[in-house]
Amino acid sequence: MSQKPKPKPKPKDKDKEMNKEELWQAVLAEIQFHISRANFTTWFANTKIISKENNRILISVPNSFSKEWLENKYNKLILKTLYSLDNKIKEVKYEVRPSLSLLKSSESSHKAIPKTDLEEQLNFQEFKINKETNLNPRYTFDNFVVGSFNELAQAAAWAVSKKPGLVYNPLFIYGKVGLGKTHLLQAIGNKIIEKFSSKRVLYIPAEKFTSEVITAIKNQSIEKLKTKFRKIDVLVLDDVQFLAGKEKTQEEFFHTFNALYEKNKQIVLSSDRSPKAIPALEERLRSRFEGGMIADISFPDYETRLAILKTKLQEKKVNFSEEVLEYIASNIQKNIREMEGALNNLIAHQKLYNKQPDIKTARKLLKKLISPPPKVVSPNTIIQIVAEFFDLKKEEILTSSRKKEIVRPRQIAMYLLREELKSSFPFIGRKFNGKDHTTAIYACEKIKKEIENNEKLLEEINLIRQRIYSQSC
Ligand code: ADP
Ligand code: MG
Repeated sequence: MSQKPKPKPKPKDKDKEMNKEELWQAVLAEIQFHISRANFTTWFANTKIISKENNRILISVPNSFSKEWLENKYNKLILKTLYSLDNKIKEVKYEVRPSLSLLKSSESSHKAIPKTDLEEQLNFQEFKINKETNLNPRYTFDNFVVGSFNELAQAAAWAVSKKPGLVYNPLFIYGKVGLGKTHLLQAIGNKIIEKFSSKRVLYIPAEKFTSEVITAIKNQSIEKLKTKFRKIDVLVLDDVQFLAGKEKTQEEFFHTFNALYEKNKQIVLSSDRSPKAIPALEERLRSRFEGGMIADISFPDYETRLAILKTKLQEKKVNFSEEVLEYIASNIQKNIREMEGALNNLIAHQKLYNKQPDIKTARKLLKKLISPPPKVVSPNTIIQIVAEFFDLKKEEILTSSRKKEIVRPRQIAMYLLREELKSSFPFIGRKFNGKDHTTAIYACEKIKKEIENNEKLLEEINLIRQRIYSQSC
């Protein structure tokens, strides 16, 4: 039987059809799936491909800090992703074009940059944060799915948004990563600014609060900081577990807390564990946290996971088969962010190939996400993640090299082994090519001390921590 060769559903001829914007949006769609949200928003906001000539790509970035990070930390990932979309691409370069971000953020600008379809669909709302309140409008009560796992937290949050300062104060929400704490906290903030337009709301991650305190101390502007925080009507502090061990920040927060509380201002807090379980938290703060309402969020059941996926699809205006959704809902059980990551991955694929992924394709695309190798935080994991963060090989960090670009990451790795795993100094020394325990002590002390004054270092270390814990169970 003669058979006509079936026209294979060909991927779009990317060279011809994918323009610069589409290509970059596809890259972003893929990258946001590989790195934490914090990193994604910090380093990829206001980036753009400005030229693609001779298979060399030029990307504009808003400032030199972003340039440095993209070049040093993300170049490999960017190049790899670009290459997977267009295998002729040879090189990527970065150029600072500050005007681009100004143009984009200025509302009065007539030269709005046209949005591509994909951007519209994936909706990088991470980039649309309100400068004053720090709130992201994408987090609302309307798109927050309620199930038995989170209903207490949602009800308390709702009550607070109706009567800020008057019902549960503080409201403390805790639960594991990716289960909706930030969403709920921000929904409270967004609801309050919608209902009470004169109320001053501020959303701030505890890490950011810490670095503001450190900077204020350094610049002797602590009074200014105090004034800023005491003018707020609703203070939303996310991930307070990061205050652990930071005495100065805790002290500052304690005073801010009291000042606000006395004036019936609302305080909302979140953490990955209950106040009791946060180590190195001053007793007086712990008892403040426990003085209001504490609600936890646990893991969503299967039906709720499916409902969440459907809500997300509606938001993103796409559709997948029930089979594909059930596959995601039954395989990703403990992290809603990962479920969303899975969806984004499929959406990017659908957009590129102009075809809804079937279950086979979905399985293939989501393999990495769905059956990741078992991970626990071990000394090796930490060393590996530090190495990757600085674009080094693990072996390089473990050598005795005295090169600056290796010494520093090595000291950071030593510091994290000490801080996160409470490893002994002799153990740390042995782990690093049989070094003496005094070398380990020196490294840990050095980093510990430097963090107090070096905001960038603190930020780096916190990003590494985030990676360590987002990779472990
Ligand atoms: P956490 O702060 O607990 O780590 P997030 O609030 O960042 O988690 O939630 C991770 C992702 O999952 C977000 O994109 C959020 O919108 C989504 N999400 C979490 N819980 C829900 C829910 N109940 N309904 C809809 N989306 C949710
Ligand atoms: Mg969060």
